[in-house]
Amino acid sequence: MKFSDLKLTTPYLKLSALFYDRVEPTPLQKPFLIAVSQEAAKLLGVDEKLDEDEALVSIVNGVKKLQNSETFSMCYAGHQFGYFVPRLGDGRAINLGKVNGQNLQLKGAGRTLYSRNGDGRAVLRSSIREFLMSEAMYGLGIPTSRALALIGSESKVARERWEKGAIVLRLSPTWVRFGTFEYFNAKGEHEKLQELADYVIDESFPELKAQEGIYLKMYAKIVKNTAETLAKWQAYGFNHGVMNTDNMSIDGRTIDYGPFSFLDDYDKEYVCNHTDQEGRYSFKNQPGIAHWNLGELAKALSPIVKYDAALQILDEVFGASYETLYSQIMYERMGLQTQQENDRELFSWMLGALQSAVIDYNDFFRKLSLFDGDKSAILECCVYRNQLDEWLDVYMLRLEKESLSAEMRHKKMLHVNPKYILKNHILQEAIQKAEVDDFSMVNDLLKVALAPFDEHKELEYLCKPVPMEAKNIKLSCSS
Ligand code: AMP
Ligand code: MG
Repeated sequence: MKFSDLKLTTPYLKLSALFYDRVEPTPLQKPFLIAVSQEAAKLLGVDEKLDEDEALVSIVNGVKKLQNSETFSMCYAGHQFGYFVPRLGDGRAINLGKVNGQNLQLKGAGRTLYSRNGDGRAVLRSSIREFLMSEAMYGLGIPTSRALALIGSESKVARERWEKGAIVLRLSPTWVRFGTFEYFNAKGEHEKLQELADYVIDESFPELKAQEGIYLKMYAKIVKNTAETLAKWQAYGFNHGVMNTDNMSIDGRTIDYGPFSFLDDYDKEYVCNHTDQEGRYSFKNQPGIAHWNLGELAKALSPIVKYDAALQILDEVFGASYETLYSQIMYERMGLQTQQENDRELFSWMLGALQSAVIDYNDFFRKLSLFDGDKSAILECCVYRNQLDEWLDVYMLRLEKESLSAEMRHKKMLHVNPKYILKNHILQEAIQKAEVDDFSMVNDLLKVALAPFDEHKELEYLCKPVPMEAKNIKLSCSS
């Protein structure tokens, strides 16, 4: 199947008119292809080469349409930094329709009814970041929207300086957000709330159909999925940066990549978003914020779900789902197969030691994967060694309680501890090249993003140490 031969459907347009606005994309000038993810194309049943599809650029640029495509933007509200904004909506995202369970959406394709003061555009640098990180999160096994193609252009876009516009064609099984429910609840449109819940069940939780207490069960699923995604973010050191309820997907996957960042050095206090002065969305706050956001969703659903029952689910399901998955992944990352009495202490000690050592979080685990008693490879990456030095001695003793051979442990750990993490400094380098029309590094990064646990001998330059001045920097929200 060829991408340009896909036939779409538009089930969202069967909802009442309040849910969306039909809008045509505004094409960029002199568009050109920068990168494609053939891996993402598989989701659509596309097996022919995307970059050989002569219609691809025109479709991503909104000039040509896939069969049966009807373009529209979605309406939603949201809590931004804790404050309710009654109407947001897709200010720069335009939906094309759906195929194979994936909703296709153009980000940066021009103004919509929901653009407010925005220009409906996305600049090249933020589009490269979203394109690559969507695929990198998938590569790490973290639920996420995906990115199929990235185009650049000669269109000028005003930010702090003039920049060039780009469009990402992104995919998700759903683009409904917590804020979509909040929109209808705030307007007192309770029938619409139910209409939306039925749509969400159809789209994301069809296994619930015909069950009793279906909306409460839907809420429980949302809580569980969100908690599990958060467990993965925390286990791999991902800081989303803008966990507003309008950026929370109703099926719990990661969406809306803005000023995100992976931790460089381990620092639980890290705040990647420069505008987040109070650190509301700091790394350590993320699970608590997800819980808060789910509380707001419970309020929004209260006309169709018993609020107390929803809160009870939130308390029971969130913590348990989060803890179970987080601890499972961390056991794997540490190469431990059995549970032993003092593991909790060992684990907290490790995080404390990492925090004080000033050491790259994910590189630590990659090095730990090959640890055999010789501490030097790890300690030479620390600024302050004492705590980690002592911890490694105790960890070595703990490993003796495992029956797995060292060789098997190394092998297993290398499969859960990535060699390649798309850290800011490397994304920044790729962006600088792209801004002078060299897209080779974007395409190199895509390769490692999709297979981060593998060795890529010719691409080792992509996992070089982070320069001191680039560590855990804060990123601008401008995009
Ligand atoms: P975000 O937090 O980046 O997901 O965006 C918050 C809201 O602002 C959403 O409703 C976006 O669609 C909207 N938005 C962000 N940037 C632009 C832009 N350049 N033009 C129009 N709307 C935008
Ligand atoms: Mg958003």
